[in-house]
Amino acid sequence: LGSGKLASYIPELARADPSKFALVLRSVDGHVVRSGHAEEPFTFQSVSKVFTFCYLLSTGGDAILDQMPCEPSGDAFHSIVRLEDEHGHPRNPYINAGAIMVSDRLRGSNAKDKIDGFVDFLRALSEGERLQVDERVYASEFATGNRNRALAHYMNHYGLIDDPAMAVDTYFRQCSLTLDTARLARIGLFLANRGRDPETDHRVLTEDHNRTAVALMATCGLYDEVGRYAIRVGVPSKSGVSGPILAVVPGRMTIAAYSPELGPKGNSVAGMTALTVLSKRLRLSVFG
Ligand code: GLN
Repeated sequence: LGSGKLASYIPELARADPSKFALVLRSVDGHVVRSGHAEEPFTFQSVSKVFTFCYLLSTGGDAILDQMPCEPSGDAFHSIVRLEDEHGHPRNPYINAGAIMVSDRLRGSNAKDKIDGFVDFLRALSEGERLQVDERVYASEFATGNRNRALAHYMNHYGLIDDPAMAVDTYFRQCSLTLDTARLARIGLFLANRGRDPETDHRVLTEDHNRTAVALMATCGLYDEVGRYAIRVGVPSKSGVSGPILAVVPGRMTIAAYSPELGPKGNSVAGMTALTVLSKRLRLSVFG
């Protein structure tokens, strides 16, 4: 704690309390271990990218996979540089460009409809609770999100995005949904259980789609820090600039970590450190 920096390019995120830290483990066979500020709220940010992607796959949106090579980008999460070389095709669904393309393809005739459908999808995974948009974070992203608008317009030029304004509006809203570390460990549990929620027995994704979503976490979940993270932690994970990291240990558990101070690549410093220690102690690395 204390060695990273709060994200400030979305001004509202700089209001987070840097002393907050939480770690929650939830096993597929029903054990929950919580420590720290497990109910401190934060916005979904890039961890939402995994869930909108899963939602799209669950509603028949597989065609998106033909338009993404599904390779790590090696660039910062909001980079535009490869889109020019690669004719508007985003590398994967877990960088901003790819996630905006996913948001464009969600069902609904406006951003609010699309988010309502997404919130319903999440509701089935969180004991009936509806996540709410944090209006201040949403307004802050909306006011400052011109890089994301640039990505959307660039992809629209190549015919890969239908409605750039609606796509980014949807994306800003999904990033602004509020949850906490305990809920994050809960909603991700199907990812650790071959696509079926172990607590309700509800099939969320087919096994093939679930494997796709989790493999992309392992290869693209921490942007241009994913290689070093694979060495240190070795568990498919997804981070967000508000400070969460969701780790999925296939067949066993989810681990959600939270601490809002970030390292230079936009990933939670204390979250990565906690996961490194835990992974080593519990021998969780899938590369072990
Ligand atoms: N809403 C953020 C953005 O678009 C999400 C980025 C992130 O969490 N890495 O910049």
